[in-house]
Amino acid sequence: MFKKLQIMKYYLGTKLFFNRRDVEEYQKKKLSRLLKNLKSDFYPKSQNLKDFPIINKKTFMENFDRINTLDISQKDALSVALQAEDSRDFSSKIGDITVGLSSGTSGSRGVFLVSEEESARWAGYILRRMLPKPLLQKHKIAFFLRANSNLYESVGSSIISFTFYDLLTPLKEHIGILNKTQPSILIAPAQVLRLLAQSDTLTIKPKKIISVAEVLEEDDREIIEIRFSQPVHQVYQCTEGFLAHTCKEGNLHLNEDIVLVEKEWIDKKSFRFIPIVTDLNRTTQPVIRYRLDDVLILDEEVCSCGSAFTCIKRIEGRCDDILKMCTVEDEEYLLFPDFIRRAIIFNNANINEYKVIKEGDTLHIYIDPISVKNEVEEALSKLYITHNLKPLKHIFHMHKIEELNKKRRRVQQL
Ligand SMILES: [Zn+2]
Repeated sequence: MFKKLQIMKYYLGTKLFFNRRDVEEYQKKKLSRLLKNLKSDFYPKSQNLKDFPIINKKTFMENFDRINTLDISQKDALSVALQAEDSRDFSSKIGDITVGLSSGTSGSRGVFLVSEEESARWAGYILRRMLPKPLLQKHKIAFFLRANSNLYESVGSSIISFTFYDLLTPLKEHIGILNKTQPSILIAPAQVLRLLAQSDTLTIKPKKIISVAEVLEEDDREIIEIRFSQPVHQVYQCTEGFLAHTCKEGNLHLNEDIVLVEKEWIDKKSFRFIPIVTDLNRTTQPVIRYRLDDVLILDEEVCSCGSAFTCIKRIEGRCDDILKMCTVEDEEYLLFPDFIRRAIIFNNANINEYKVIKEGDTLHIYIDPISVKNEVEEALSKLYITHNLKPLKHIFHMHKIEELNKKRRRVQQL
């Protein structure tokens, strides 16, 4: 009961910001409080954020024992998280600390720790940002996820029921349950939303659809929106924090009242940057100047919703999705995955699914149906000319659907 009250407190405490100066003032206050009360042995004792090292997942995990403030060892945390993953029973905790595994694609496993209070804060915040208005109506949420967590279950209450759909179970087994429960909110990774949208037997009519955990690409969006006659919203959330959400206009905004995002520019001309994230609230496992592996595209235009939070045009994908190419003059060139995706999708109305992997000078192209091979070949050749690049050698393969519990990555550099 206490937890529900806490969620309500954070729910009501979450505000909208319409003035940029208010956002900055608020961040400054929160940051100062965070750094002043920081108990971690790993981070420097300083009030200046610039004194903190920029860290990545590797550093974060290697220093797990020193970063968390409860003396929980990585070994203990990992064993609890792995046990939960194996048994698919996600109720185990260390004391009242929720332990989870991050579903990263990079292979190195991340473990996260969240206290009761932090999970209530998270739940209150996400409900406030994502629930359709008017507030306080009943909702049935269907949530497709690789792994459940106490964190998500904490959202359940008398007005909100919450069903977790395990992605290790074949999708067709879930469809019957979905039809029976008729969820009002559907939350799933983009590729799962797409498969649900293409199902002949699914009869649900959700009022809100939220894409999570993967890049939502234009072709997915179109299929999903047509099927459910609803815009697709996005939540950009990872172990390191709840970073962005779509507003009522459908544009992504950084959640700058809970995270401070520094930008490491990789291509200022095209507004592409890597976010360096500081979570302004977490103290159990403080996240400070954590460099994500993602590429975001800044939207400089002011969104018509009026929010003062920075607008993001797109989440382009992971840094590893950028193809390292060579120009005709033999200079290095970064080809962003978006160009590949567009070249493939926009020239082929009949393509169902694809994946390209660059290995050395070869591009492995997995497509379904394979009959569109020539069009893809032509589109990519044009792309090389446009960008003045040395062409890659193409090897075509039949595309096979991967397991749904793996994150989809359509463009990848090995
Ligand atoms: Zn907006």
